[in-house]
Amino acid sequence: MSKKGKVYLIGAGPGRADLITVRGAELLKIADCIIYDKLANPALLKFARPDAEIINVPKRIGPGSATQDQINKLIVEKASLGQTVVRLKGGDPCIFGRAGQELSVLAKAGIDFEIVPGVTAAVAAAESAGILLTDRDYSSQVVFITGQEAEGKQQSNIDWHLLAKFNGTIVFYMAMENLEFIAKQLIKNGMAEETPTAVIADATLPSQKTVRASLKQITETCKENKIGPPAIVVIGTAADNKLNWLTDKPIFGKTILMTRDAESNADFAAKIIAKGGCPIEFPTIKIEPLTQTNKFLQTLAKLAEYDWLIFTSANGIAVSFDSLQKLGKDARVFASAKIAAIGSETAAKLSEFGIKADFVPNVFTGKELGKQLIAFTNLKGKKVLLLRSQLASNELSGVLESAGAKVDNVPVYTAVTVRNKCGPLMEKIKKSEIDWLTFSSPSSVKSFFEQIPADIVNSSNTRIASIGPVTSEQLKTLGLKVDTQASEHTADGLLDAIEKMYK
Ligand code: SAH
Repeated sequence: MSKKGKVYLIGAGPGRADLITVRGAELLKIADCIIYDKLANPALLKFARPDAEIINVPKRIGPGSATQDQINKLIVEKASLGQTVVRLKGGDPCIFGRAGQELSVLAKAGIDFEIVPGVTAAVAAAESAGILLTDRDYSSQVVFITGQEAEGKQQSNIDWHLLAKFNGTIVFYMAMENLEFIAKQLIKNGMAEETPTAVIADATLPSQKTVRASLKQITETCKENKIGPPAIVVIGTAADNKLNWLTDKPIFGKTILMTRDAESNADFAAKIIAKGGCPIEFPTIKIEPLTQTNKFLQTLAKLAEYDWLIFTSANGIAVSFDSLQKLGKDARVFASAKIAAIGSETAAKLSEFGIKADFVPNVFTGKELGKQLIAFTNLKGKKVLLLRSQLASNELSGVLESAGAKVDNVPVYTAVTVRNKCGPLMEKIKKSEIDWLTFSSPSSVKSFFEQIPADIVNSSNTRIASIGPVTSEQLKTLGLKVDTQASEHTADGLLDAIEKMYK
């Protein structure tokens, strides 16, 4: 008999991708096949192996849906092929997740399985709205209920009479369609009309919305605020608070367009999400290594001659080390030279490769770095190597040479323009659906405005944030207004500058 596979039933957590458990993420990395639901954040698929089979299964609502049977069959079929199958469900897999049907089918087929819990929507939604489901002062019990049951009143398991008297916190899942019915039933059975009620939609995501009202008013308030599913309804004293710690963050829900290269955008996106913002990807440049050139390879062969090695960007470090690795070498090739790095981000990149820079001035232009370095050490007669972008200005070399250094400038990468589909972005800018455009280099400014007409931006409410003076200058040259400029010229500095605009 062929070896059967194993099925992992994993809770993806609610909304935000990084709310999955460590165990869940580790298992996604080894899966042969991932079968996921609409409520599981697709961003989690970044953990998947490149060759993993990924199947999205939209599920029809309602009992006896044929689709659920198909899902059950699919899981059994894949596991029977000997595959490691991940069944990924939003929130916790067993809270209103129809896990029962899937598990019993697996048990019947003799297929091994494991359940990996997840953060369920009730808990995540309440907490991201600052609601404590159980607080010793007012609630020593909490109940989770499905709001869909209420639809088929005859077969409903909900005892409205009992629920209306419940002395604790009531949480409804899947209740948006029946909210009016639910509120009426509770009130009819004796619950006070003024009972505090909160509805949290898209919990933990940048699109999270929270409304609070009395039980009597809640349906109307949801309609007024266009609150739709997926949403959690919290009823009881617990709902009566105003601790909007998440949605009150300055950048919460703001859409921020990123225009760096794809890899830097990914790092930047994580920072935006951490602050509750909504990153939008629009890479304008691509980093192209120049480390195959004879010049670079010859330089590597004579590294021992240099007294100082200078890196002015994280990209320069990434491509240099990538090439070293391919050549079977490591950081020890730089052992005899002292190393200088511009600013904290560049130094941090160096430390990823085990190197602690000897000199890290907190400046962000080549010229300033040069000035500080010659104040720090005597460079007369010293050999200095610059591993930088082909597009970098000559100012740094000039400053160092004027102090008597012999400078070798070796370009290790260049930035080439990337073209994107522009129609959807232009529409968004026109409709003021983008709050900020961010720029981190003159080359991304040029590339972006070759693709998107400056007029569209100028006549919209979209604002512009620039990483520093050189980038701002480029923007102004093209007739654009810089609404804020970072004082520390890093991705963090850029976000700080945007945050300040809301304070
Ligand atoms: N297994 C899931 C629940 C599935 S039922 C869990 O444990 O969370 C689907 C319901 O979950 C939705 O109708 C909604 O009530 C709730 N839900 C899921 N994600 C949500 C989110 N991000 N914000 C608010 N409610 C959510």
